[in-house]
Amino acid sequence: MMTTFLGIVLFLLLHHETKIPSEAETTAISLTAPSPETACPYCGSHHLIKNGSIHNGKPKRLCKDCGKQFVDAPQNQPVSATTKHLVDDLLLERISLRGITRVTAVSWDWLQQYVNQKLASIPRQVKVSAKSRGRLTIACDEMWSFVERQKNTVYIWLAIDRDTREIVGCFMGDRTRQSARQLWASLPPVYRQCAVAYTDFWQSYEQVIPANRHRAVGKETGETNHIERLNNTFRQRLSRLVRKSLSFSKK
Ligand SMILES: [Zn+2]
Repeated sequence: MMTTFLGIVLFLLLHHETKIPSEAETTAISLTAPSPETACPYCGSHHLIKNGSIHNGKPKRLCKDCGKQFVDAPQNQPVSATTKHLVDDLLLERISLRGITRVTAVSWDWLQQYVNQKLASIPRQVKVSAKSRGRLTIACDEMWSFVERQKNTVYIWLAIDRDTREIVGCFMGDRTRQSARQLWASLPPVYRQCAVAYTDFWQSYEQVIPANRHRAVGKETGETNHIERLNNTFRQRLSRLVRKSLSFSKK
């Protein structure tokens, strides 16, 4: 056990040490790359003039043919589509943003801005397939996570349809009755009108869900298994939801 651990540490150290000089080598090569006969990366023209320099002193050039400016042998290439696909896949695994930057060598700022864009493009409305009035059963549960900036615990309230396994309601907030009400309000009307709701014994539900359709049950009954299993899956996939970890969200 101890030797395996030492082996891993040694491997990491060696790997790290061999990695640094190779990086230095590549930059040295790109710095001494031939500059006199540079062509415009946009139109291939050689009709270039000097055009000041960027923050680190590297000269900028202006193409007299297409009017675009560029830097010789730029070190920061735009992130390739392949890397973006890899980042997309990694974001779905339980890896921190820092971890992803280490693996893909994208900058942390770029990644954070990429994630923010992804988030902004996701529709806020839960899509639910059309339901006929009739026997509908939902299960509700709350799952907590920690958000550093708010210095407190945030609860993710979810409701799933027990037959179709669809998420039919969602709310994020504290653990009060107000939040339970918001979860109830997020449900499509057909569920609010006729669904039977299974929940745990948390008292907030009692005052929100109509008593004749509310079943507060303990975990041992198995009635809320699906939703608890779902929350479990989320915790497996999202490091931010793992209880004993340091990778909590800042926002
Ligand atoms: Zn050009």
